[in-house]
Amino acid sequence: MAQLLDGRIYSEEALAEVTEKVKALKKSGVTPGLAVILAGDDPASQTYVRNKGKACEKTGIYSRTIILPADVSQAELEKTIRELNDDPKIDGILVQLPLPRGLDEKRALACILPEKDADGFHVLNAGRLMLGQSGTLPCTPKGVLRMLRLAGVELDGKKAVVVGRSNIVGKPVAMMLLNENATVTICHSHTEDLKEVTKQADVLVVAVGKPGLITGDMVKPGAAVVDVGINRINGVLSGDVDFDSVEPVAGWISPVPGGVGLMTVAMLMDNVVTLATARAGKA
Ligand code: NDP
Repeated sequence: MAQLLDGRIYSEEALAEVTEKVKALKKSGVTPGLAVILAGDDPASQTYVRNKGKACEKTGIYSRTIILPADVSQAELEKTIRELNDDPKIDGILVQLPLPRGLDEKRALACILPEKDADGFHVLNAGRLMLGQSGTLPCTPKGVLRMLRLAGVELDGKKAVVVGRSNIVGKPVAMMLLNENATVTICHSHTEDLKEVTKQADVLVVAVGKPGLITGDMVKPGAAVVDVGINRINGVLSGDVDFDSVEPVAGWISPVPGGVGLMTVAMLMDNVVTLATARAGKA
């Protein structure tokens, strides 16, 4: 039976740490602030933004949500970001993705000052990760690594397989595993014989968006399996990993819900505090 990579426990621990750091910053006259821009009315995005607001409240971080209509122009969106770049109350800016059709995500993200890039999606922070330099790390990959570390999963010298190669999850998580000295393979929609590859993995991270993609026969006995996927079927959440067949084979497994999603929000709070600390140091 696998050990549960319990996002509830690990995220509570991370949020408690953040709360302490926020208290210390406030004592020195600095209140960390996060601004979230939500364009359009996608229900999943609304839920994520609400959860981020609640986490700010819990940790004492000042938060502001800016809601823009789905037909907002690129110029208006970028103007909003620039105003937040100049706002001394705001340490971190997050543009909730995906943006409505017609808006240019790359250009919008490039407008965020790298030192206010709460999500770590700015090209400069992505480059820093690639080069092994310190910078803001993207929240979901950071949460995955934090979970593995807290559970005591060994990475050095181990075979890690990442399924999915998006810029926000797959690629950065692969790079972070590489930085931990794992031997990393990245799979994607063109991968031939996925099972052959996943079966080799001591650590398997799945970020695809296909419910039940990974089944027990695709997992090495004792492996650590991290399910990043969030799929909604008739309003019910599930991951990319078929929990029932994988759990008896794996050594560790993260559930959905109650896994990586909670870590993502906690790591966002952690990023905001780190950005605020850096800015306070500069002031
Ligand atoms: P993307 O759609 O951007 O990327 C999906 C990746 O999966 C692509 O690289 C794609 O390959 C690959 N893929 C698709 N089909 C297969 C297949 N059959 N076999 C192997 N690889 C395949 O998704 P994201 O990375 O943004 O998100 C992935 C999942 O994680 C989603 O369910 C999303 O909701 C969830 N998510 C969860 C978060 C959390 O906090 N828990 C945060 C962010 C995302 P190719 O590149 O060839 O197209």
